[in-house]
Amino acid sequence: MFESLSDRLSGVFERLTKQGALSEDDVKTALREVRVALLEADVSLPVARDFVKAVQDKATGQAVTKSVTPGQQVVKIVHDELVHVLTGDEDPGKLKVDNPPAPILMVGLQGSGKTTTTAKLAKRLKEREGKKVLMASLDVNRPAAMEQLQILGVQIGVDTLPIVKGESPVQIAKRAKTQASLGGYDVYMLDTAGRLHIDAELIQQAAEVRDVANPRETLLVVDGLTGQDAVNVATEFDDKIGVSGVVLTRMDGDGRGGAALSMRAVTGKPIRFVGLGEKMDAIEEFHAERIAGRILGMGDIVSLVEKAQETIEAEQAERMMKRFQKGRFNMNDMKMQLEQMQKMGGMEGIMGMMPGMKKAAKQMENAGIDESVFKRQVALINSMTRKERANPQILQASRKKRIAKGAGLEVSELNQLLKMQRQMADMMKKMGKMGKGGALKQAMK
Ligand code: GDP
Repeated sequence: MFESLSDRLSGVFERLTKQGALSEDDVKTALREVRVALLEADVSLPVARDFVKAVQDKATGQAVTKSVTPGQQVVKIVHDELVHVLTGDEDPGKLKVDNPPAPILMVGLQGSGKTTTTAKLAKRLKEREGKKVLMASLDVNRPAAMEQLQILGVQIGVDTLPIVKGESPVQIAKRAKTQASLGGYDVYMLDTAGRLHIDAELIQQAAEVRDVANPRETLLVVDGLTGQDAVNVATEFDDKIGVSGVVLTRMDGDGRGGAALSMRAVTGKPIRFVGLGEKMDAIEEFHAERIAGRILGMGDIVSLVEKAQETIEAEQAERMMKRFQKGRFNMNDMKMQLEQMQKMGGMEGIMGMMPGMKKAAKQMENAGIDESVFKRQVALINSMTRKERANPQILQASRKKRIAKGAGLEVSELNQLLKMQRQMADMMKKMGKMGKGGALKQAMK
């Protein structure tokens, strides 16, 4: 899976990581090559463009980390961005099959691997979750397709709905539902008919079946080798029928892999599984981290940079603490705190993390300060000059007016921010003096 893309990228990064120092041009050239590699892997143009831009922005704003080379840092950024682009479902492999019998609708074009995937998933449900599964083929136009599912059923030890000639797909779906209830099945899977192209009849049939079955999951099976076409098919199916996830098949081949990278960004739908061969066990949950790792093939560098960043963060925290203990807490610190609060899920998050901050957090909360206030306060800080941020005490009326105007806010809000900053500076200082090592040190651990 992803061999060619992976080869291309590792070529680019091997050159990059060998260099001691990186110029902006080096990074630009490398990113141009990344973009070409993505396009050659059939990643859609907007996705490739956004990807490269995101990496470029992060690489430019990145603080230099000691002990790793800039090239290694770029690799880490690309890795994180890959994970970001690929991330869909938190738990992609968990199919919603509570409230038995739970219907799962399988849709997709003919030849995409729909029937094979139906059986693979049935086997997983049976073996991993101990579910009793019933499979039914709704492909009334192709008796061979019905027989194929039956044969697979026997092979994996999963029941199939007996074939009755002359029924419509909706009739079969209803029969499957009844049979599933009567037979005490946990799950019943409906393998709908596929066609070579999406047409009105196919969509209508799938929609009718969806309406009778009311599926808990509608999984679209697409051929991963078809690149952007796979993404187009997914967009169309989702528009017309609504899907809860995508299964990308034939990812075992030396595919270009572009479909995997574009799918989430273009359709908004998560990839839940990847098919990795014809055998019944050849299916895997789709995990962004794992896939990103395979695409990049540079796991060592990624963990190296992660370690280095952790060390740097610890050093920074130590330095920060020393300054705070001396009562130095300026607007840059304030901004960092505000951003961190946002990241940690607002007041509640920070109260849980830093016992020493409880009181201040409570005060803010009482004053009606919530997430949107954080954003406005950051906007105010952004509107200050560097000098003002470092020495907020120099802010007089005219400066205040300018800053508030720059952020599109009132001076009263700026005053509130200044008050908060002073209170926090005081509090940090007090905490720094308390006990050996200081309460602040305890709180920040
Ligand atoms: P359907 O028409 O969509 O139901 O497609 P099938 O399930 O009949 O699959 C078509 C062919 O693709 C069969 O020969 C399958 O064995 C093969 N196939 C399905 N999934 C995969 C996969 O993930 N990898 C590979 N290599 N072949 C697959």
